[in-house]
Amino acid sequence: MQPTDISNPQYFHKVVDCQWGCPAHTDVPGYIRLIAQGRYTDAYMLNRQANVFPGILGRVCDRPCEPVCRRARVEKEPVAICRLKRVASDLREDVAALLPKAPRRKNGKRVALIGAGPASLTVANDLLPMGYEVVIYEALAVPGGLMRSNIPSFRLPAEVLDEEIGMIVGMGADLRLGTPVKSMKALLAEGYDAVFVGSGAPKGKNLKLPGRDEAAANIHIGIAWLESVAFGHVERIGERVLIIGVGNTAMDCCRTSLRLGAKNVKVMARKPREFFKASAWELQDAEEETVEIVVNHSPKSFVMEKGRLTGMIFEKMEYEIDARGRITAEKIAGEEFFPCDDVVLAIGQENAFPWVERDLGIEFDKWDVPVVDQVTYQGTRPGVFFGGDSAFGPKNIIWAVEHGHQAAISIHKYCHGEDIARRMPYGMNLATSKMGMHEWSYSNAYDPVERRVMPHVSLKERFKKLNLEVELGFTAEQFTREVERCLNCDIQTVFTAKLCIECDACVDICPTRCLTITTNGPEDELRQRLSAPANNLSQDLYVSTGLPQTGRVMVKDEDLCVHCSLCAERCPTGAWDMQKFTLKVPYAADEAAESVPQTRTGT
Ligand code: SF4
Ligand code: SF4
Repeated sequence: MQPTDISNPQYFHKVVDCQWGCPAHTDVPGYIRLIAQGRYTDAYMLNRQANVFPGILGRVCDRPCEPVCRRARVEKEPVAICRLKRVASDLREDVAALLPKAPRRKNGKRVALIGAGPASLTVANDLLPMGYEVVIYEALAVPGGLMRSNIPSFRLPAEVLDEEIGMIVGMGADLRLGTPVKSMKALLAEGYDAVFVGSGAPKGKNLKLPGRDEAAANIHIGIAWLESVAFGHVERIGERVLIIGVGNTAMDCCRTSLRLGAKNVKVMARKPREFFKASAWELQDAEEETVEIVVNHSPKSFVMEKGRLTGMIFEKMEYEIDARGRITAEKIAGEEFFPCDDVVLAIGQENAFPWVERDLGIEFDKWDVPVVDQVTYQGTRPGVFFGGDSAFGPKNIIWAVEHGHQAAISIHKYCHGEDIARRMPYGMNLATSKMGMHEWSYSNAYDPVERRVMPHVSLKERFKKLNLEVELGFTAEQFTREVERCLNCDIQTVFTAKLCIECDACVDICPTRCLTITTNGPEDELRQRLSAPANNLSQDLYVSTGLPQTGRVMVKDEDLCVHCSLCAERCPTGAWDMQKFTLKVPYAADEAAESVPQTRTGT
């Protein structure tokens, strides 16, 4: 194998599995260490750099970081990363003085943002401090987009939304509530320097089955229904409710139904559980609240009696699943009737752009999704950008945030006549964590403690009030234990080949057998003859240059390292060093700083 190029920031970035897995590349170990030191405000602000809504996402993030957490390779459960984010948010002090400020003197560029959801708010967050005038058009009477209208307040309290949205709007955005954009043509005629569409995917999918039209009064489209509940237009539902769909919206619908008076709520799934889209914890929370999940039932028709919906007929499905977990065959094995008073359809969302005229050079594909560049987020008309669910269909809040950051870079470059495709690469900083012979600037002892369990409001209390937050947040005892579960993957093992005397001390002491000194060879073969075979191909091998004495190489399997520092502690020559890695993610302001002409003084 070629020696590994550790000057490429992406190599070390990939070792920080959670940060790599987070679409916005939040510095997870960094903020967890700050919490461990009791520096909650700093933890919040570090978090906010990438993820502009730590309090919101500390409650409702889809958590792509957790399944990839290194801790889950050592034990069953990953670090409760999302919950720790909330700890920083709950315990921080007032951050007003620490937030970015918009300059009094503007830069002369006006940008329109359509929709006040997470994508647009992130664009505003990045552009306002750069002197942009930002106008946000929002159809609803309150900002937040789907975070407000579709996530029930028992999961995400309105005060948390208000506060974090306020931090952005308070920088001076011109937020026009109750102002839907009805014509893109008219908006473009207003002469904005750029337009960003962050209007979400606001149309819930329908289910055209026999009886659908007749039973319409008791069939609700999930996202529209959740919005009606959020704004107090719907206050009750029948006693027996069927939810069709198995995504997170379905989980919000079933739990909301229980709070509106339903006694018997069933989530009906066409496929087995392993094919569900909902996050495991959302399924768990729903089941804890007595929601029954019925698998392998495909909706066939709505049943009416005397002009009223009385139930639904489902086809009972049977599947053949291969060794790789894919469905290879399905058959219908009978029918079953389920009585109900109401049905909520939560089978997906679609973009809806009836307000974008089709003669503006903004192209849509055959599914009516805008054609958007995956890097620049520009549509087919220069100066019109898309992000969040309106760009590529429903994803999640943290993806919308990342789209917002990237679109802000593009908008800045576009407004200044720069090539929007030419973007700054990621950078990095490495600094030793060694303070003395056996001392580290981080807690490196391995703590085998299990993941803490989030305390919840009791089941009895929970349904009394629609907006009673269910999760109580970690107690001090819980989070001080949980932070110790983080393996500090950002403290990297950095190797200097020329210092190694091949004494094998590091190989001997490594508790996970991830180090090997051996002759080099092709990767496939090398992976099999390490101290422990390296079979996780998604994780890289580090291979050094030839060692001074024998020309053999040091190989490290990045899959196994628990960042305990024992190798660096034991090495007599300092060939291994534990170094704190900081990923430098470029934002719009960094791009702007780079394009400022450097003033030269002297000769
Ligand atoms: S830090 Fe060093 S000793 Fe500890 S697991 Fe990683 S390679 Fe092995
Ligand atoms: S302990 Fe240090 S000198 Fe000895 S083999 Fe490991 S890296 Fe090389």
